[in-house]
Amino acid sequence: MTDEPDTSSSLLVDTFGRQQTYLRISVTDRCNFRCKYCMPEEGIDLAEREEVLSYEEITRLSRVFAAHGVNKIRLTGGEPTIRKGIVGLIKSLSQIDGIDSVALTTNGSTLEKQAAEFKAAGLCALNVSLDTLHKDRFAEVTGRDEFDRVMRGIDAALEAGIAPVKVNVVAMKGFNDDEFADFVAFTKDRPIHVRFIEFMPFAGNQWSQDRIVPFETMLTSIREKFDLQAQDRAHDHVSKDYVVPGHAGKVGFITSMTEDFCSGCSRIRLTALGELKTCLFFQPEMSLRDAMRGGASDEELAKLISDTVLKKRAGHPDLQRIVQVSRTSMVAIGG
Ligand code: SF4
Repeated sequence: MTDEPDTSSSLLVDTFGRQQTYLRISVTDRCNFRCKYCMPEEGIDLAEREEVLSYEEITRLSRVFAAHGVNKIRLTGGEPTIRKGIVGLIKSLSQIDGIDSVALTTNGSTLEKQAAEFKAAGLCALNVSLDTLHKDRFAEVTGRDEFDRVMRGIDAALEAGIAPVKVNVVAMKGFNDDEFADFVAFTKDRPIHVRFIEFMPFAGNQWSQDRIVPFETMLTSIREKFDLQAQDRAHDHVSKDYVVPGHAGKVGFITSMTEDFCSGCSRIRLTALGELKTCLFFQPEMSLRDAMRGGASDEELAKLISDTVLKKRAGHPDLQRIVQVSRTSMVAIGG
């Protein structure tokens, strides 16, 4: 009897024909930053250590997902890099049969020290959250005076040879909507991929529809200064990508509020508590942690996962209703 999961059963395809191939795993609900669009001002009730999935549990579940067609894993948080042993986890996930890519989303605060280790452990892709190129605004939105360290971290990731390095910019009216051209200029000599993300509602993040900077508005304002040329886009690709002739990097837009991409959604999420979420905005559907700790076999876990995928909705509700369903803070989901 081998301990490899039964690979004969089906791939994770929902009732809309979308195959789930991309697993986003939150490894912690803790963070060393206090970004206003992610962490509620009053903070959150942090989970007890034993409530959080161990690395062994994350690796076992990842093997089960991989046996059913998941080929990409992204580690998120909170801030994943502040959890001890994260390099070891990247290594063990990179060695799972069927996993082609292990990626990480980070606030960049540890990259200067850890980028080379991440690369050596098998990290394939990196997203760094950076919502402004102004030091004072950085401190305002993150609650931390760490702008220089994050900028050095981005360069350290490039030097370590991690590619792609993406920079996630949450576009918020009245905060950074005068910096779009500066961020595009930031891609001139750096092979980074800047993505502007429409502001999304999560518990406690002071979201309102009038704070969204719509995709079309961003595009128009950038085109006043740059020749943005659209790139072809795969159906399950999240970002609408553009290049600027002569720039080493590129620009993208994640438009979930004004032009959603739910029809090609291939993503499924695991929270730090081992809850399975088929959509970013809806509440978790079930606890794989409890099933696993309750003695479920890999086959039983796989059945629970595929049954849950069959409950996946077509997409997120419209902007009037989305606030009612999006009742968890971003820091507890990991984006
Ligand atoms: S909103 Fe939900 S269904 Fe739509 S793309 Fe995001 S995770 Fe997928």
